[in-house]
Amino acid sequence: MKASLRRPTYIEVSLENIKENIQAVMQALPAETAVFSVLKANAYGHGVERIAPFLEPEVDGFCVSNLDEALELRSLGIEKEILVLGSIPLEFISEAIAHDIAVAVTTQEWIDSLRDAVGLKVHLKIDSGMGRVGVRGLSAVEEALLALETKGVIVEGLFTHFATADQTDVAQFQEQMQEFQSILSALPVLPKWLHASNSAASIWHKEAAFTMVRLGDVQFGLNPSGRVLESPLSLKAALSLSSALVQVKTLSTNQSIGYGATYVTQSEEIIGTVPIGYADGLTRNMQGFSVLVDGHLCPIVGRVSMDQITIRLPKVYPLGTQVVLIGQDQGKGISVQDWADYRETINYEIVCLLSDRIPRFYK
Ligand SMILES: *Cc1c(COP(=O)(O)O)cnc(C)c1O
Repeated sequence: MKASLRRPTYIEVSLENIKENIQAVMQALPAETAVFSVLKANAYGHGVERIAPFLEPEVDGFCVSNLDEALELRSLGIEKEILVLGSIPLEFISEAIAHDIAVAVTTQEWIDSLRDAVGLKVHLKIDSGMGRVGVRGLSAVEEALLALETKGVIVEGLFTHFATADQTDVAQFQEQMQEFQSILSALPVLPKWLHASNSAASIWHKEAAFTMVRLGDVQFGLNPSGRVLESPLSLKAALSLSSALVQVKTLSTNQSIGYGATYVTQSEEIIGTVPIGYADGLTRNMQGFSVLVDGHLCPIVGRVSMDQITIRLPKVYPLGTQVVLIGQDQGKGISVQDWADYRETINYEIVCLLSDRIPRFYK
């Protein structure tokens, strides 16, 4: 789907803020720590096309979630290392080799079925307690490494992933850390890349940096813990979302608004229509949330439609007046985290669900 450019709804992304957020995290880590920028899911909805080339000089490599995302980075001209964090179907390994893309190895079965994999670069995923993907325990790691070597595969990295690095209770984090460290210390040789830290571990558990960190959420100025842990770094939001009033009408008392007639005016009310809806990622459960017009918080009244919302305005404004859905307006602000709180979810989900229909502009 192409972005809708002939409508006043748009996202603005600050490339400079993304760069500064990465620098802020890395300045607090040992100088020799490398950084891979995680740009899966269209750079967490921020738009990979412009962000990847912009960040390439700033980082040591990139992580994505599947081979298509990795190939997109190569087609954008990215020459630095790329790691696919998930395992890929065996039939596509020749493409990974041809485009010099490293892939995660997560199961012994996958290794056993490997054919014609000479020259394939991999990072072996160790499940240190997350219980999702990866091989468990030292003997499984040793078996995997031996089998990979037999097949001519180049093991460039060993890595794990924390389940609770963004929480106040550090017990599970410490168990996972110990498990990963004990496996590494039992191996006679270690590859170049040893990594465990996502954004949260990079911010709150610097001891887990090993030789590189994988930064996702924090790049975009988002706190990976939501509001659980305070970030010691001053992060800068990268994304704002705006639109404009396309209709303003004064309704008398007792008039219903929108599908289902879920809202009825209590008095004479001024209702504005904004061209954004659930097809853009402003989901139906945001009815009752507010947006900013001229520095005023204006509630979304009535149902969220596929392509429109209706808001209650404090006074009549001309058509075309800006509506800020995420961002700052005259000293007031609405953040991605505010959306997440209202929807009882995490900031990651909010930005990933902003749809491709909304154009992204960069500054
Ligand atoms: C997505 C992902 C990351 C990045 O996580 P953030 O919390 O966004 O920093 C790191 N590692 C793996 C394995 C991932 O899947």
